[in-house]
Amino acid sequence: MRLFNTLTRREEEFVPLRPGEVRLYTCGPTVYDYAHIGNFRTYLWEDLLRRVLEYRGHRVTQVMNLTDVDDKTIANACAAGLELDDYTRTFIDAFFEDLDALGIERAEHYPRATRHIPEMVALVKRLKDRGHLYESRGSLYFKIDTFPGYGRLCGLDPGCAGGRSRIESDEYDKDDPRDFAVWKMRKEGEPFWDTELGAGRPGWHLECSAMSMKYLGETFDIHTGGVDNIFPHHENEIAQSEAATGVPFVRYWLHAAHLVVDGEKMSKSKGNFHTLRALIKRGYDPRVIRYMLLSVHYRKPLNFTFEGLGQCQAALDRLDDLVDRLEGGGFSAGGDPEFINAASEARRIMGEALDDDLNTAGALAPLFDLVRDANTRLDAGRFALDDVAALRETLHFFRAVFGIEPGRRAALDREVEALIKKRAEARARRDFAEADRIRKALTDRGVVLEDTPQGVRWKVRGC
Ligand code: AMP
Ligand code: ZN
Repeated sequence: MRLFNTLTRREEEFVPLRPGEVRLYTCGPTVYDYAHIGNFRTYLWEDLLRRVLEYRGHRVTQVMNLTDVDDKTIANACAAGLELDDYTRTFIDAFFEDLDALGIERAEHYPRATRHIPEMVALVKRLKDRGHLYESRGSLYFKIDTFPGYGRLCGLDPGCAGGRSRIESDEYDKDDPRDFAVWKMRKEGEPFWDTELGAGRPGWHLECSAMSMKYLGETFDIHTGGVDNIFPHHENEIAQSEAATGVPFVRYWLHAAHLVVDGEKMSKSKGNFHTLRALIKRGYDPRVIRYMLLSVHYRKPLNFTFEGLGQCQAALDRLDDLVDRLEGGGFSAGGDPEFINAASEARRIMGEALDDDLNTAGALAPLFDLVRDANTRLDAGRFALDDVAALRETLHFFRAVFGIEPGRRAALDREVEALIKKRAEARARRDFAEADRIRKALTDRGVVLEDTPQGVRWKVRGC
């Protein structure tokens, strides 16, 4: 499998450090609000990477951090009159609900910054001992001049390491504008931790270095994020980590282009965003949103339009229709070697495209060629059991790596089962209002629940 490494600026054969095991760090959300579908473009492509690696037989250990203390979380918690933890809980819960709705596989670890203060303090102490820090008005800054490798990731162009793209509001006095805070002195009215470094809180970049190394070791395989993370976040992560350990931090750096709207990055601050829940409320199937966000190669910008979403809906409808036709049964024995061969050829080309730096568009094209071929044969009554099996195998590959279950019945099953599970959980904690709300939501959709001694049974009214 070849992956484009931002560090070397070329596609490289991916070889994990420990055979059969991939250690992957994916920068996660800042839990100050609901994530938007731009954020999910990044998390979805990372999910695809994970699935392809797993399909290829690797055991993946993935870590995704939850940034639950920074300027934005603090400001919003304060505005809401809540303790930081009480404020962020809502958005952490919402984030996991959204991951489930989108069918994103769970990472092995979701460390929270506020739960890793000792690890961060230990890292700062290592940096201090090695002479990489200076103090200014009680805060500790990393001195870029002490790390000669600075700028390797972003290529030292004037717009990145030499510039100042993210001016952090609470950094007061720095020797060099590129220097960054690893520990910020306590400010009136802000949460703080009393530590050996003094009372304060960690700088934003520190958490990813401390938590990735805690769960994955000092050198690990892949680190990902959106292109906006390259500078300064990832550049600073490299500086902090390698200055402390003296060994290479990450072997492959992968970055995704943005989801854009009219040429501009989708972002909270520009107000040009959609949350997943808002789109679901408007009636969009999360599978279609998933499909749309994966349909374009991750290193190319993806322009969001409702028209585009509609086209993805139509593409998925085609797959659903075909699967529903297969479910209809009534096929005779036998099969056409030509079709069986075409199905396995489609699988091969799909695999090759994904192995080529996760070329999703290149993987979808042969799938839809096969769908067209199958429909023509079905229309003509020339489709038999061995053809069905061959087609199913290709669809299975699609399902495994794209994480999308084609077929309306299967999609309904998944959704209803998830709601039934939620209702059982609500009843277990004696939240009967929530349990009734879920039952009503299901009834409104024509799903009738029956509580039996063997568990909950369900059927669609009229079926
Ligand atoms: P944030 O919560 O802003 O730190 O972002 C979390 C992740 O989402 C980071 O990896 C960002 O690079 C990514 N991200 C933010 N906006 C977009 C976007 N419009 N398209 C794709 N990824 C994004
Ligand atoms: Zn990060």
